[in-house]
Amino acid sequence: NPLQGAQFVLAAHRVSQLPADRGAEVAFAGRSNAGKSSALNALTGHKGLARTSKTPGRTQQMVSFSLPPYKDVPVSRAQDAQERLPLAQAEGEPSLEVRLVDLPGYGYAKVPQELREHWRQEIDRYLHQRRSLRGVVLIADIRHPLKEFDRMMLDFCFATGLPCHLLLTKADKLSRNQAAQALAAMRKSFPDGLHATAQVFSSTAGTGVDEARAAVVALLRQ
Ligand code: GDP
Repeated sequence: NPLQGAQFVLAAHRVSQLPADRGAEVAFAGRSNAGKSSALNALTGHKGLARTSKTPGRTQQMVSFSLPPYKDVPVSRAQDAQERLPLAQAEGEPSLEVRLVDLPGYGYAKVPQELREHWRQEIDRYLHQRRSLRGVVLIADIRHPLKEFDRMMLDFCFATGLPCHLLLTKADKLSRNQAAQALAAMRKSFPDGLHATAQVFSSTAGTGVDEARAAVVALLRQ
């Protein structure tokens, strides 16, 4: 698993509190309850990494996780660098800091208007200003995709030119046929010029986990 070894770095209330803006990172976004924490845990193979089943009204934060190779550890010193650390650069190149960032979601749980506005602004700022940001993984319930929050994220990606990979999760709630139809409909609905890809996913059933890991790696390597 190329996303193995993720570790909590810090939780931030503002973009300015995030780790230094170097290396590469991929952001995870989704409405609350879409299944974002479960997806992050499934992708990293770390059950307790992101907290699942958040209680409504809980303080939200941007959470940064680091992936190996860790800061200051030259890739060339890691054993089997290419195999164990598929994100690593070629031997001899400086090590690259790699992070996953869990963005706060809202839209399902009742979040006060003021807090929604704060996060809308911070997410906007983050997507526009963060130089190490390589792309966004958007997590949406396959049964209710593209609500207002999701559209906002796609609009931001469109505006910034950031690539977006959409995980249509909780696919275990649909038949294979229904899930395939939902995916096809979603792909058709992407506007021209949006760098977006989409796939079916289920944290519970393990559907699409390898495909999603590969998509995250592809984003990080851009
Ligand atoms: P978050 O608020 O987006 O981080 O969502 P969570 O990961 O906490 O999940 C919200 C709820 O959806 C929880 O009750 C999870 O157990 C459930 N859930 C998450 N992923 C899946 C999935 O792939 N399939 C099913 N059936 N339920 C899921």
